[in-house]
Amino acid sequence: MHPGYFVAPSSGALPPGAPRTSRLPLLLVLLAALVVVAVPTTMLAQRARAADGPEVRAVEGPAAAAAGWGPTYVDAKGRPARWDPCSPIGYVVQAGWIPDAGRRDLTEALRRLSLASGLSFVDEGDTDELPSQLRSSYQPARYGERWAPLLIGWVPPGVTDVGVGGGVQGMSLSYAVPGRTGPSLVSGQVVLDAGNRLAAGFGPGTTDGEVLLHELAHAVGLGHVLDPTQVMYPQTTHSESEFGAGDRAGLAALGAPAGCHPVPPPRVNS
Ligand SMILES: [Zn+2]
Repeated sequence: MHPGYFVAPSSGALPPGAPRTSRLPLLLVLLAALVVVAVPTTMLAQRARAADGPEVRAVEGPAAAAAGWGPTYVDAKGRPARWDPCSPIGYVVQAGWIPDAGRRDLTEALRRLSLASGLSFVDEGDTDELPSQLRSSYQPARYGERWAPLLIGWVPPGVTDVGVGGGVQGMSLSYAVPGRTGPSLVSGQVVLDAGNRLAAGFGPGTTDGEVLLHELAHAVGLGHVLDPTQVMYPQTTHSESEFGAGDRAGLAALGAPAGCHPVPPPRVNS
């Protein structure tokens, strides 16, 4: 596992180069991405995949504000990790602690993400699976002979080790594998802190909608950017929750406008 970029909940540290003044003096809510590169079912499978394309690495630190956006992962040729826009992305929901408006907010966040990226999402129903840093990206007994679907849920910090709580309101863990035409995102998790309830919707203030947009954008390959007008700024803001121009440029660059990007199937013991 690559720790990548992580906003430490204990210190409340901002990313290097970030403005030092807090935008939320009363309620500091940090958004974080924990990135995981090519989590294999076996080391053998990982070595086999490495032969498919250049090694994938997590991008260190947020992108400069002038860049507009940055990817979560790139390979040695600088190509960003993407999902295949020509195949729907399946997701399951851990609904054990979902807030009243959670499903509505999730549906709306995915609708906005689809509009901006051209990616499509398919609800595969609820799951009793709990998010975990050690979640396998391939679980044939639970999900069949394919990559495990995106796992989305609101979960209290005490029942998961992914790092929500203590000021970290959301986490995204993504799984990328190398490929000849660039790295592929194949699975992931989006986790919101059920122990610290936020306002529902996408209006002004700190909302579940804003956290969902941010973490789901991580899940499709966007990294942080040092521009507080973008959703991918690593801290929530008081503004309306909507993707900014940089976010949209990044989502287009990773989404349907960039063309199909077939995902390699999971390989086990090969
Ligand atoms: Zn983040």
